[in-house]
Amino acid sequence: MQLQLSEQHGAFRDTVRDFARSVIAPRAADMDRTGQHPHDIFHQMAGMGLLGVTIPREYEGLGADTLSYAIAVEEVSYASGSVGLSLAAHNSLGAAPIYLYGTPEQKDRYLPNLASGRMLGAFALTERHAGSDAGAIHTRAVRDGDGWLLDGAKVYCTSGGIAGVLSVAALTDPAQGKRGITSFLVEKGTPGLRVGKDEDKFGCRASTTYQLFFEHVRLSDSQRLGPENQGFKQFLTILDGGRISIGAMAVGLAQAAFDAALAYSHMRQQFGAPINRLQAIQFKLADMACWVRASRLMVYKAAVLKDQGRPFAKQASMAKLYASELGERVCNEAIQIFGGNGYIRDYPVERFYRDQRITEIGEGTSEIQKLVIGRELIREYTALAEARELVVAG
Ligand SMILES: Cc1cc2nc3c(=O)[nH]c(=O)nc-3n(C[C@H](O)[C@H](O)[C@H](O)COP(=O)(O)OP(=O)(O)OC[C@H]3O[C@@H](n4cnc5c(N)ncnc54)[C@H](O)[C@@H]3O)c2cc1C
Repeated sequence: MQLQLSEQHGAFRDTVRDFARSVIAPRAADMDRTGQHPHDIFHQMAGMGLLGVTIPREYEGLGADTLSYAIAVEEVSYASGSVGLSLAAHNSLGAAPIYLYGTPEQKDRYLPNLASGRMLGAFALTERHAGSDAGAIHTRAVRDGDGWLLDGAKVYCTSGGIAGVLSVAALTDPAQGKRGITSFLVEKGTPGLRVGKDEDKFGCRASTTYQLFFEHVRLSDSQRLGPENQGFKQFLTILDGGRISIGAMAVGLAQAAFDAALAYSHMRQQFGAPINRLQAIQFKLADMACWVRASRLMVYKAAVLKDQGRPFAKQASMAKLYASELGERVCNEAIQIFGGNGYIRDYPVERFYRDQRITEIGEGTSEIQKLVIGRELIREYTALAEARELVVAG
């Protein structure tokens, strides 16, 4: 078992780290204040291949593995949670569905544009009344001649209002419930697509989050993504992959909070000495360091399983659950170590906390991760028990 990054992965991490810390980090507080998507940073990241990390080179992607992708999201999130979240959404939710389920024509049309940053991708699944229960969506696509008519409304679509292409989940066979969902690709500017509010958020404020409305949107059948009524299965697979990047985002923010707290505890003097001489502070730092290290290893493990073509859904949920929940504790302890300054916007740790909080909600809440993990544990146990019974009986 290899527990160290290869030379190649290490060099990639260093390149992304240099860029993120020199270009993105100095602007993170300002982006948080203005809430503006940083188009110029995305163009620069596109030049480094970060907008198509796992997309093959034939489509202008970087052609790298999932581990590289996790590393990239961690490093970018260290510098800015907003940029990390939008980057993860673009790769995992914007480009991946087209790469996984697109026809050759759809791949040729969109993947080079997405990987090179000429357009952003977005994923419109969640609706006002269908969040964790994503199979309960109401958006409908009805056959209309040789095409479709799409009607409905989506919420919380990361980059939805600025994306060039959206993957939209819609009911095509309501009688089948969640087994009657199909995904469609809808381009920016399509008649009937109306961009609603960009939400005013607690954290990740420069990652835009839109309401979207579809009013008699006419689609050709060539805009269908994959076979009819396979949308539910598709988005479960897409979200399994996406969870690795949300875990990586949590690790990046937790590492940033830890580094800031460690430096502050060295500089801040109380009772005539740096507060890092106090055992109470050292214990916090020790816990934080362990939580960050363990979370990163869990994220890497999920990424490597995916790269090896092995089942990774349980590990991805475990990594996301652990990294996000412990990331929250790391960011919270960082605020405590900063004392009053931790609560003041001149210091970055309150932003780390706010940005980190979405990792416990997006791409499946912590409670949903526990459902996934629990079901998988029981499925594995049942399969093992049945195999044993067969051996005993046989
Ligand atoms: C900033 C941001 C960006 C987002 N980006 C996207 C995007 O790009 N595309 C997209 O489609 N969606 C996106 N989402 C939506 C996100 O995936 C959902 O918010 C999330 O899945 C939770 O759904 P909900 O908000 O409706 O909460 P609800 O489902 O209403 O959950 C409320 C509470 O009930 C709990 N709960 C619900 N069901 C169960 C259950 N069965 N067992 C135990 N507890 C349960 C939840 O864990 C939670 O604590 C985004 C959300 C945010 C805030």
